[in-house]
Amino acid sequence: MKNKDLKVRLVGIASRIKECADEYDRLAGVAQLHRILAHTGIASVTKKELMAIYDVRMVGQDGPGRGVYNTLIDRVLNRDCPLCDAGVATTLDHHLPKSKFPSLSVAPYNLVPACPWCQREKLAKLPQNSSEECFHPYYDDVEAVEWLDCIVLQGSPGVIKFIVSERCCDQSVMERAKSHMKTFNLGRLYSLRAASQITGSRAHFAKVYDKGGAAALSAHLLEVSKSWYSIHKNSWQAAMHRAASESDWFCNGGFNEWKSYR
Ligand SMILES: [Zn+2]
Repeated sequence: MKNKDLKVRLVGIASRIKECADEYDRLAGVAQLHRILAHTGIASVTKKELMAIYDVRMVGQDGPGRGVYNTLIDRVLNRDCPLCDAGVATTLDHHLPKSKFPSLSVAPYNLVPACPWCQREKLAKLPQNSSEECFHPYYDDVEAVEWLDCIVLQGSPGVIKFIVSERCCDQSVMERAKSHMKTFNLGRLYSLRAASQITGSRAHFAKVYDKGGAAALSAHLLEVSKSWYSIHKNSWQAAMHRAASESDWFCNGGFNEWKSYR
Protein backbone atom coordinates (compact mmCIF):
# COMPACT_ATOMS: atom_id res chain seq x y z
CA MET A 1 0.00 0.00 0.00
CA LYS A 2 1.60 3.24 -1.18
CA ASN A 3 -0.24 5.65 1.10
CA LYS A 4 1.64 5.26 4.40
CA ASP A 5 -0.69 7.57 6.28
CA LEU A 6 -3.71 5.48 5.25
CA LYS A 7 -1.91 2.28 6.14
CA VAL A 8 -1.23 3.55 9.66
CA ARG A 9 -4.85 4.61 10.08
CA LEU A 10 -6.13 1.24 8.79
CA VAL A 11 -3.89 -0.69 11.18
CA GLY A 12 -5.32 1.49 13.92
CA ILE A 13 -8.90 0.33 13.23
CA ALA A 14 -8.08 -3.32 12.47
CA SER A 15 -9.55 -4.60 15.75
CA ARG A 16 -12.70 -2.54 15.24
CA ILE A 17 -13.13 -3.99 11.72
CA LYS A 18 -12.83 -7.48 13.18
CA GLU A 19 -15.43 -6.65 15.82
CA CYS A 20 -17.83 -5.50 13.08
CA ALA A 21 -17.28 -8.76 11.14
CA ASP A 22 -17.83 -10.83 14.30
CA GLU A 23 -21.03 -8.96 15.11
CA TYR A 24 -22.23 -9.59 11.57
CA ASP A 25 -21.46 -13.30 11.87
CA ARG A 26 -23.37 -13.53 15.15
CA LEU A 27 -26.47 -11.64 13.94
CA ALA A 28 -26.70 -13.15 10.43
CA GLY A 29 -27.21 -16.62 11.90
CA VAL A 30 -30.39 -15.50 13.66
CA ALA A 31 -31.76 -13.15 10.97
CA GLN A 32 -30.99 -10.05 13.03
CA LEU A 33 -28.78 -8.13 10.60
CA HIS A 34 -31.29 -5.28 10.62
CA ARG A 35 -29.99 -4.42 14.09
CA ILE A 36 -26.63 -3.31 12.70
CA LEU A 37 -26.75 0.46 12.37
CA ALA A 38 -25.73 2.18 9.16
CA HIS A 39 -22.57 4.21 9.61
CA THR A 40 -20.06 6.33 7.76
CA GLY A 41 -16.34 6.00 8.44
CA ILE A 42 -14.60 4.41 11.40
CA ALA A 43 -12.43 6.69 13.51
CA SER A 44 -10.09 8.52 11.12
CA VAL A 45 -10.80 6.27 8.11
CA THR A 46 -13.53 7.63 5.87
CA LYS A 47 -16.32 5.73 4.15
CA LYS A 48 -14.73 6.48 0.79
CA GLU A 49 -11.41 5.01 1.90
CA LEU A 50 -13.04 1.88 3.32
CA MET A 51 -15.07 1.32 0.15
CA ALA A 52 -11.95 1.83 -1.99
CA ILE A 53 -10.27 -1.11 -0.24
CA TYR A 54 -12.87 -3.36 -1.83
CA ASP A 55 -12.97 -1.65 -5.22
CA VAL A 56 -9.21 -1.38 -5.69
CA ARG A 57 -7.60 -4.09 -3.60
CA MET A 58 -10.23 -6.85 -3.95
CA VAL A 59 -12.02 -6.31 -7.29
CA GLY A 60 -9.00 -4.90 -9.11
CA GLN A 61 -7.34 -7.55 -11.29
CA ASP A 62 -3.96 -6.93 -9.64
CA GLY A 63 -5.33 -6.36 -6.15
CA PRO A 64 -4.01 -8.57 -3.32
CA GLY A 65 -7.56 -9.70 -2.50
CA ARG A 66 -8.49 -10.73 -6.05
CA GLY A 67 -7.80 -14.38 -5.27
CA VAL A 68 -10.36 -14.31 -2.43
CA TYR A 69 -12.84 -12.58 -4.75
CA ASN A 70 -12.45 -15.32 -7.38
CA THR A 71 -12.64 -18.11 -4.81
CA LEU A 72 -15.93 -16.81 -3.38
CA ILE A 73 -17.52 -16.83 -6.86
CA ASP A 74 -15.98 -20.07 -8.11
CA ARG A 75 -17.03 -22.19 -5.15
CA VAL A 76 -20.69 -21.89 -6.22
CA LEU A 77 -21.65 -25.07 -8.07
CA ASN A 78 -22.03 -24.38 -11.80
CA ARG A 79 -21.89 -20.71 -10.88
CA ASP A 80 -25.65 -20.83 -10.21
CA CYS A 81 -26.64 -17.59 -8.52
CA PRO A 82 -27.42 -18.62 -4.91
CA LEU A 83 -29.96 -15.81 -4.58
CA CYS A 84 -32.27 -16.81 -7.44
CA ASP A 85 -30.90 -20.11 -8.79
CA ALA A 86 -31.89 -18.86 -12.24
CA GLY A 87 -28.93 -16.73 -13.30
CA VAL A 88 -25.17 -17.06 -13.57
CA ALA A 89 -23.14 -15.59 -10.69
CA THR A 90 -20.70 -13.14 -12.25
CA THR A 91 -19.98 -10.81 -9.36
CA LEU A 92 -20.03 -10.45 -5.58
CA ASP A 93 -22.83 -8.52 -3.96
CA HIS A 94 -22.57 -6.87 -0.54
CA HIS A 95 -25.41 -8.43 1.44
CA LEU A 96 -25.38 -5.30 3.59
CA PRO A 97 -24.45 -2.53 1.12
CA LYS A 98 -20.97 -1.10 1.55
CA SER A 99 -22.31 2.41 0.98
CA LYS A 100 -24.15 2.18 4.32
CA PHE A 101 -21.91 -0.33 6.10
CA PRO A 102 -18.38 0.49 4.89
CA SER A 103 -16.82 -1.40 7.80
CA LEU A 104 -18.16 -4.58 6.13
CA SER A 105 -16.76 -3.77 2.67
CA VAL A 106 -14.39 -6.74 2.68
CA ALA A 107 -15.99 -8.99 5.33
CA PRO A 108 -16.13 -12.36 3.49
CA TYR A 109 -19.51 -13.37 4.95
CA ASN A 110 -20.99 -10.17 3.60
CA LEU A 111 -19.84 -10.94 0.05
CA VAL A 112 -22.35 -13.11 -1.76
CA PRO A 113 -22.03 -14.35 -5.36
CA ALA A 114 -24.79 -12.84 -7.47
CA CYS A 115 -26.07 -12.68 -11.03
CA PRO A 116 -26.62 -9.30 -12.75
CA TRP A 117 -30.41 -9.57 -12.26
CA CYS A 118 -30.18 -10.04 -8.49
CA GLN A 119 -27.57 -7.36 -8.05
CA ARG A 120 -29.63 -4.86 -10.02
CA GLU A 121 -32.93 -5.63 -8.27
CA LYS A 122 -31.53 -5.53 -4.76
CA LEU A 123 -29.63 -2.26 -4.96
CA ALA A 124 -29.34 -0.90 -1.42
CA LYS A 125 -32.63 -2.14 0.03
CA LEU A 126 -32.43 -2.59 3.79
CA PRO A 127 -34.61 -4.76 6.07
CA GLN A 128 -36.32 -3.05 8.99
CA ASN A 129 -37.05 -6.23 10.93
CA SER A 130 -36.36 -9.95 10.90
CA SER A 131 -39.30 -10.76 8.59
CA GLU A 132 -37.92 -8.41 5.97
CA GLU A 133 -34.51 -10.07 5.90
CA CYS A 134 -34.05 -11.98 2.67
CA PHE A 135 -32.36 -15.36 2.81
CA HIS A 136 -28.61 -15.34 3.29
CA PRO A 137 -26.90 -18.11 1.28
CA TYR A 138 -24.19 -18.63 3.93
CA TYR A 139 -26.53 -18.82 6.92
CA ASP A 140 -29.99 -19.96 5.81
CA ASP A 141 -30.89 -23.44 4.61
CA VAL A 142 -33.45 -22.48 1.99
CA GLU A 143 -34.04 -26.14 1.25
CA ALA A 144 -35.18 -27.03 4.76
CA VAL A 145 -38.79 -26.12 3.98
CA GLU A 146 -40.76 -26.17 0.72
CA TRP A 147 -41.93 -22.61 0.14
CA LEU A 148 -42.08 -21.92 -3.61
CA ASP A 149 -45.28 -22.54 -5.52
CA CYS A 150 -46.94 -21.24 -8.66
CA ILE A 151 -50.27 -20.89 -10.43
CA VAL A 152 -51.03 -21.48 -14.10
CA LEU A 153 -53.05 -18.53 -15.41
CA GLN A 154 -55.03 -19.34 -18.55
CA GLY A 155 -54.69 -16.95 -21.46
CA SER A 156 -52.94 -16.32 -24.71
CA PRO A 157 -50.16 -16.27 -23.82
CA GLY A 158 -50.61 -18.11 -20.56
CA VAL A 159 -48.70 -17.02 -17.49
CA ILE A 160 -46.97 -18.95 -14.74
CA LYS A 161 -47.35 -16.86 -11.60
CA PHE A 162 -44.87 -17.69 -8.82
CA ILE A 163 -45.90 -17.26 -5.20
CA VAL A 164 -44.83 -18.29 -1.72
CA SER A 165 -46.71 -21.48 -0.94
CA GLU A 166 -49.71 -21.23 1.36
CA ARG A 167 -48.80 -24.77 2.38
CA CYS A 168 -45.53 -23.56 3.86
CA CYS A 169 -45.75 -24.66 7.48
CA ASP A 170 -43.09 -22.36 8.94
CA GLN A 171 -44.43 -18.82 9.42
CA SER A 172 -41.03 -17.15 9.73
CA VAL A 173 -39.70 -18.91 6.61
CA MET A 174 -42.88 -17.91 4.78
CA GLU A 175 -42.44 -14.23 5.67
CA ARG A 176 -38.76 -14.21 4.79
CA ALA A 177 -39.45 -16.08 1.53
CA LYS A 178 -41.88 -13.30 0.59
CA SER A 179 -39.22 -10.70 1.41
CA HIS A 180 -36.65 -12.64 -0.59
CA MET A 181 -38.91 -12.85 -3.64
CA LYS A 182 -39.79 -9.17 -3.37
CA THR A 183 -36.18 -8.03 -2.85
CA PHE A 184 -34.95 -9.80 -5.97
CA ASN A 185 -38.19 -9.51 -7.99
CA LEU A 186 -38.14 -13.28 -8.37
CA GLY A 187 -41.79 -13.55 -9.41
CA ARG A 188 -40.98 -11.63 -12.57
CA LEU A 189 -37.69 -13.48 -13.18
CA TYR A 190 -39.23 -16.93 -12.75
CA SER A 191 -42.23 -16.12 -14.96
CA LEU A 192 -39.87 -15.08 -17.73
CA ARG A 193 -37.74 -18.21 -17.30
CA ALA A 194 -40.88 -20.39 -17.26
CA ALA A 195 -42.21 -18.83 -20.47
CA SER A 196 -38.90 -19.53 -22.18
CA GLN A 197 -38.85 -23.11 -20.87
CA ILE A 198 -42.41 -23.86 -22.04
CA THR A 199 -41.76 -22.35 -25.46
CA GLY A 200 -38.69 -24.52 -25.90
CA SER A 201 -40.48 -27.66 -24.66
CA ARG A 202 -43.70 -27.08 -26.60
CA ALA A 203 -42.90 -29.49 -29.45
CA HIS A 204 -42.00 -32.21 -26.96
CA PHE A 205 -45.16 -31.60 -24.92
CA ALA A 206 -47.20 -31.88 -28.14
CA LYS A 207 -45.60 -35.23 -28.93
CA VAL A 208 -46.42 -36.64 -25.50
CA TYR A 209 -49.97 -35.27 -25.71
CA ASP A 210 -50.55 -36.73 -29.19
CA LYS A 211 -49.48 -40.16 -27.97
CA GLY A 212 -51.27 -40.39 -24.65
CA GLY A 213 -53.44 -37.34 -24.18
CA ALA A 214 -53.63 -35.02 -21.18
CA ALA A 215 -53.03 -37.83 -18.68
CA ALA A 216 -49.72 -38.76 -20.31
CA LEU A 217 -48.56 -35.15 -20.43
CA SER A 218 -49.56 -34.62 -16.80
CA ALA A 219 -47.57 -37.69 -15.77
CA HIS A 220 -44.57 -36.54 -17.79
CA LEU A 221 -44.63 -33.06 -16.23
CA LEU A 222 -44.85 -34.56 -12.77
CA GLU A 223 -41.78 -36.71 -13.43
CA VAL A 224 -39.81 -33.68 -14.60
CA SER A 225 -40.93 -31.80 -11.49
CA LYS A 226 -39.78 -34.64 -9.24
CA SER A 227 -36.40 -34.68 -10.95
CA TRP A 228 -35.85 -30.98 -10.24
CA TYR A 229 -37.30 -31.35 -6.75
CA SER A 230 -34.75 -34.06 -5.95
CA ILE A 231 -31.88 -31.60 -6.35
CA HIS A 232 -33.59 -28.36 -5.33
CA LYS A 233 -37.05 -28.51 -3.80
CA ASN A 234 -37.63 -24.76 -4.18
CA SER A 235 -36.46 -24.51 -7.78
CA TRP A 236 -38.72 -22.65 -10.17
CA GLN A 237 -38.50 -25.67 -12.50
CA ALA A 238 -39.92 -28.03 -9.87
CA ALA A 239 -42.74 -25.63 -9.03
CA MET A 240 -43.55 -24.87 -12.66
CA HIS A 241 -43.73 -28.48 -13.85
CA ARG A 242 -45.78 -29.47 -10.79
CA ALA A 243 -48.33 -26.70 -11.37
CA ALA A 244 -48.49 -27.46 -15.10
CA SER A 245 -49.02 -31.14 -14.31
CA GLU A 246 -51.99 -30.23 -12.09
CA SER A 247 -53.55 -27.88 -14.67
CA ASP A 248 -56.18 -29.53 -16.91
CA TRP A 249 -56.06 -26.52 -19.20
CA PHE A 250 -52.30 -26.72 -19.64
CA CYS A 251 -52.30 -30.48 -20.23
CA ASN A 252 -55.14 -30.26 -22.74
CA GLY A 253 -53.27 -27.96 -25.09
CA GLY A 254 -52.76 -24.81 -23.02
CA PHE A 255 -49.01 -25.30 -23.47
CA ASN A 256 -49.50 -24.11 -27.08
CA GLU A 257 -50.42 -20.64 -25.85
CA TRP A 258 -46.81 -19.72 -25.08
CA LYS A 259 -45.27 -18.48 -28.31
CA SER A 260 -41.79 -17.57 -29.41
CA TYR A 261 -41.66 -14.12 -30.90
CA ARG A 262 -38.24 -14.46 -32.46
ZN1 LIG B 1 -29.60 -14.21 -9.21
